[in-house]
Amino acid sequence: MTPVNTFESELAIIGTGLAGMAAAYFSQSLGIRTAQIGVSSSAIYASGYLDLLGVHPVERRQQWTDPFSGIEALVRDAPFHPYARLTRAEIQQALDGFLGFLSGMGLPYERREGVNSFVITPVGTLKPTYAVPESMWAGAVACEKKHPCLIVDFWGLKGFSAIQITQMLSPWPGLRPARIPFPAVGPSVDLYPEQMARSLEIEKNRVRLAEDIRPHLMDAQAVGLPAVLGIYKSAAVRAHLEGLLGVPVFEIPTIPPSLPGFRLKERFETEIARKGVRLFAQKRVLKVETENRKGFVLSVGDQATGEIQDMVRARGVILAGGRFLGMGLRAGRKAIIEPLFGLPVFQPGKRAEWHENDFFNPAGHQINQSGIETDEHFRPLDRSGHPAFENLYAAGSILAHQDWMRQKCGAGLAVATAYAAVRAFMGIKRL
Ligand SMILES: Cc1cc2nc3c(=O)[nH]c(=O)nc-3n(C[C@H](O)[C@H](O)[C@H](O)COP(=O)(O)OP(=O)(O)OC[C@H]3O[C@@H](n4cnc5c(N)ncnc54)[C@H](O)[C@@H]3O)c2cc1C
Repeated sequence: MTPVNTFESELAIIGTGLAGMAAAYFSQSLGIRTAQIGVSSSAIYASGYLDLLGVHPVERRQQWTDPFSGIEALVRDAPFHPYARLTRAEIQQALDGFLGFLSGMGLPYERREGVNSFVITPVGTLKPTYAVPESMWAGAVACEKKHPCLIVDFWGLKGFSAIQITQMLSPWPGLRPARIPFPAVGPSVDLYPEQMARSLEIEKNRVRLAEDIRPHLMDAQAVGLPAVLGIYKSAAVRAHLEGLLGVPVFEIPTIPPSLPGFRLKERFETEIARKGVRLFAQKRVLKVETENRKGFVLSVGDQATGEIQDMVRARGVILAGGRFLGMGLRAGRKAIIEPLFGLPVFQPGKRAEWHENDFFNPAGHQINQSGIETDEHFRPLDRSGHPAFENLYAAGSILAHQDWMRQKCGAGLAVATAYAAVRAFMGIKRL
């Protein structure tokens, strides 16, 4: 048995997804003694795009160029949506702060203030998003201006087809596909993004890649590649390729798991610990006990063995455990539960109502609105409609009354609600 240590904190954050990451950043920047506990999150599946609000109403698939006007329309129609609890100033400050943090740790984003950009997805559709990793920005610009471009894929890389992407993006004059071998591997070898990214951190492989791309370049003013341009030195990898090819190079997200998400997780873990947050990485909160309904004692350990290895004592907790993927919520045969605090979960009345008969129903499924209901300070409610605990807050995709996937608001919602929850814990006046 491992000895159990106790860590004293003011605020404990459960979850290391985008909501947990943002909460940890905002908390430490306010000087709060912070602990964070979480296993690998769905962040490693995410494309890297930071959506704020792209679609509303989902049944009409109406896309928004101005995400803030979209949010206004959304909260008029859906007054219980978590965005309805936030002001525009709060959302903007949250995004500015978090994007500054990402940039400071070597993952800069590009955006046009207050405007969505239309970006290329792994299957070649276009979607509205608010902030774009710098490594993908040249793709958004080329797409908007319809510059002649070359999209490259590789023998052996599944789920990423340059032909499919170029066909989907048609009409786009001068957009061409090319399939080439990946440097230093044979054409019949299966390729995986992480292995490719590591390989491209070696200079001679980049030189070889540029040599293989060059004959296809012709009039192309930019080159799009799957998001495999390095993990730890991605900016240098891309800059070197651009120098060799003489045109901008941009990444297009691959299907999950995705390198941009992996880069984010890797950098975040190093950076947040360096800033003084006590990070219990790859650990789960197995049990929570409350002290006088105000403070909390978290048992932290290994999910697989159930062994408790650490205790975290905290005056407040932010629950950012996600929905089903992160297991912040669990769906049983009859009902959805929140396993740590036993909070009531907003959900359809009957199991039969969880999903529509048509899986592709554009309006989505009722289960995608399920989650934790809160007061205006993001404190989860008990069955009587009052805050369940004085100092328990919830943030991110665990919140009820939102369908981030269809509304294209995943990362924005996670970051903005985390910001508001941390400030509420500190009793800071609303903006
Ligand atoms: C395939 C995919 C693609 C996406 N693409 C985009 C995109 O293009 N743009 C965009 O804006 N967003 C995208 N997102 C969504 C984005 O990642 C969301 O913002 C995010 O999923 C919501 O973050 P979250 O932190 O609330 O939840 P999650 O990311 O689910 O994280 C929850 C975390 O809590 C942890 N946890 C749960 N219970 C415990 C416990 N008891 N103890 C410790 N830890 C616990 C989980 O393990 C996990 O680490 C995508 C997500 C996926 C899955």
